Amino acid sequence: MTETTQTQPALTRSTATPTLNEQQEQQKILVQRLKEAGLNTKCFLKVGGSFDEKTGEFKPKAAFEIGWQNKPYNPEDFTKPCNSAECKVCSSGKPHMRWGINAGQDLILLDSDDRRLYDALSNTSLPETLEVTSARRKIPAKYYAIDGPKVENLHLYIPEEKASVGEVRADNWYVVAPRTTIPYKDLKTGEDKTGTYTITKNIAIARVEYNSFMKAITPFLGSDPAQRLTIEDIENGVSEGERATVLFKEACKFIHAGISPQFTYDAIKLTASKCTPPFTDYEELKRMIKNAAQYKDKAQNIQTTNTAEQLQQIGAEATTTQEHITLKEVKETFKKWLYLEGDDEAE
Ligand SMILES: [Zn+2]
Repeated sequence: MTETTQTQPALTRSTATPTLNEQQEQQKILVQRLKEAGLNTKCFLKVGGSFDEKTGEFKPKAAFEIGWQNKPYNPEDFTKPCNSAECKVCSSGKPHMRWGINAGQDLILLDSDDRRLYDALSNTSLPETLEVTSARRKIPAKYYAIDGPKVENLHLYIPEEKASVGEVRADNWYVVAPRTTIPYKDLKTGEDKTGTYTITKNIAIARVEYNSFMKAITPFLGSDPAQRLTIEDIENGVSEGERATVLFKEACKFIHAGISPQFTYDAIKLTASKCTPPFTDYEELKRMIKNAAQYKDKAQNIQTTNTAEQLQQIGAEATTTQEHITLKEVKETFKKWLYLEGDDEAE
């Protein structure tokens, strides 16, 4: 494929591709909806400006600018010439045509890759909100504004099923923005097609309180206990009745992300000290880490031997009161390894 056919799939399929006017209209609606919900409109990123180095295939939904997370675009940038040094598809002087919208601050995106998940989420206590339907699977993503503590990125599951079929995109996980057109292969026939992300429910972005939001999505968090843990739990500890559960979740979170047992031990010990009252059964903490490792082996049907020795060594200094790590380190590890791993490309 030449660059020309890749950037202008519209030539042969003009009806499927929005005109510049239609594109601007959809973008205008979205920006207006963000504004009326009190959300920051400087939240856009360029997608589809690169090719896969190995296959040479166009990557229509991929963020491609280095450090895009830290340099969001304004709506004003939609019409400015694309002079991104990294964009391989724009002709000079033309504005960039493919945009993503990044979650963060108070905006979260509830993204379903399976129609059943979308239907189930639509039957929760969550209010109706703005929806943008994807180009390929034709499944709407729901846009929400959250009040209260920050929601973390989460994988969503249909209860009792193993594979994740959606995400809560909350922190530098994006979706493709409305009226962006992408080429794709038909899921059944493999035929080349184009499709456009479109606002299919044009209503206000609903504002939801953190606790209500978390309560509504909890049934879809899957069997991984680590997903059911918030950074607030880690930071502030929890009350007596919840201590063992939350500390075990934290152990799972770190161990399953491949963090060393010693770091995990120090981390959960820190949370244990913040609980009311503090949790001081350090032998139990060690058991939690071992159980977390076994839980992972069992859940993923794999055998890990490399942590056995490390597991023996954890808590060798358990009786000292000195902390090995700071809360800041724990939180950074939590975010870095547990949320930014894996799939940050929109579906
Ligand atoms: Zn461009």
